[in-house]
Amino acid sequence: MTQRPPDGAPRYPAVVPELRHPAGTFDVLPPESGRWVSLVTTFARVAASAGYGLVITPTFEDVAVFQRVGESTDVVRKEMYDFDDRGGRHVALRPEMTASVVRAYIQHRPAAPWKVWYAGSNFRYERPQAGRHREFHQVGIEAFGSADADLDVEVMALGWEYYAALGLRRIDLVLNSLGDATCRPGYRDLLLAYLLEHCAELCEEHQGRLGDNPLRVLDCKKPECRAVTAGAPRQTDHLCDDCSAHFARVRAGLEALGIAYRIEPALVRGLDYYTRTTFEYTGLALDGAQNAVGGGGRYDGLVAEMGGNETPGIGFALGLERILLACDAEGLAGDGAAGVEAFVVDFAGGEAARDLTAELRAAGLRAERSFDGRSPKAQFKAADRSGASIALVVGPDEAAAGRVTLKDLRRPPAEPGRLQRPPAEPGRLQRPPAERAGQVTLAREDVVAEVCRRVRARAEVG
Ligand SMILES: [Zn+2]
Ligand SMILES: [Zn+2]
Repeated sequence: MTQRPPDGAPRYPAVVPELRHPAGTFDVLPPESGRWVSLVTTFARVAASAGYGLVITPTFEDVAVFQRVGESTDVVRKEMYDFDDRGGRHVALRPEMTASVVRAYIQHRPAAPWKVWYAGSNFRYERPQAGRHREFHQVGIEAFGSADADLDVEVMALGWEYYAALGLRRIDLVLNSLGDATCRPGYRDLLLAYLLEHCAELCEEHQGRLGDNPLRVLDCKKPECRAVTAGAPRQTDHLCDDCSAHFARVRAGLEALGIAYRIEPALVRGLDYYTRTTFEYTGLALDGAQNAVGGGGRYDGLVAEMGGNETPGIGFALGLERILLACDAEGLAGDGAAGVEAFVVDFAGGEAARDLTAELRAAGLRAERSFDGRSPKAQFKAADRSGASIALVVGPDEAAAGRVTLKDLRRPPAEPGRLQRPPAEPGRLQRPPAERAGQVTLAREDVVAEVCRRVRARAEVG
């Protein structure tokens, strides 16, 4: 029992309640987090290859930033993670990135074309369930200031290239055109008239909400709505001349780059602001209901709608959680975190471990060590676990002689089809004798150069 403090201050409970991450969120720890590092660094590389620069915007914005762009969408109507802060400002954790990036574009007026990429968290407030988190992660790009259909092709090709760079092979590009302010209102009326005719056959939600945005019915996954929309008029059959030419140029560009695509008239996506080109990447290895691994489109009216000058724009967002599922489904384990390359085992006081790791890191290698003066056995175990291919061993003999023993930690690969030997009993794990193969003792001043040489030679062999 805790004693009541003399000043009568509140007493802390003897047992601290278990602290956990909030519902609908998750932690990512090493080595799994190594996959996230490579997801983001690969994306950064692909985006930079086409001249896109990183943009960082706040995680929360004035709620108006998001309300203006999606009044009839679920993410804004029902799922916004918004609240009043202590100063009485109504703010929202961003539900998506495009609105924030548009807000930044309008605020800072950079020279167009402005091409940026981002990586970060988005939020929605809803009941957490499998595959739907309150905080989820995306990478994406936005390009402002050009209405050229070839920019649409560039954007779609970059997403395509990103999946390929991750090793994903079973990705489908699904394409549609949503028209523009000239041809979309006419199409909307056509569609609305058609849906009103079939109103009684629609799902319950859409019977009541038809007028809001009839295009959303095309997106409905319920079988009742699907049956009706299968026969609905298609926007691609009702494009104006400009939209039609734009769409033809986009398709020609994809074909020229050898990017396979499929036209899907029902693809309207969740947000209201898309015009003309709309697209989605689906992971064919994923379960049908949740197989979108990314999507985007052109939003030529959005900048003006949010208070900026008339500026065309296009972008996409790719969901990292889904991409990881697709990698799993395609058997891509990922490299994980780049493990360390060298491990210093020092049981002669720790000074060599301190100094050698610093020298190895300064030479550009990834180097690790144990702390707390642990036993040689424990240190070798840690070296094994670290994934290092080389151990630098400094015992009392080496320390006295100013030398370091290099030990090859790489085990011979198991022969396929044969059982691996069971691991040695922990109690019998011992430092091998100095004359064992794969071991050499060098002068202290030569050892870093030798480790560099070996690591590079190994990297070349692959
Ligand atoms: Zn429906
Ligand atoms: Zn049009």
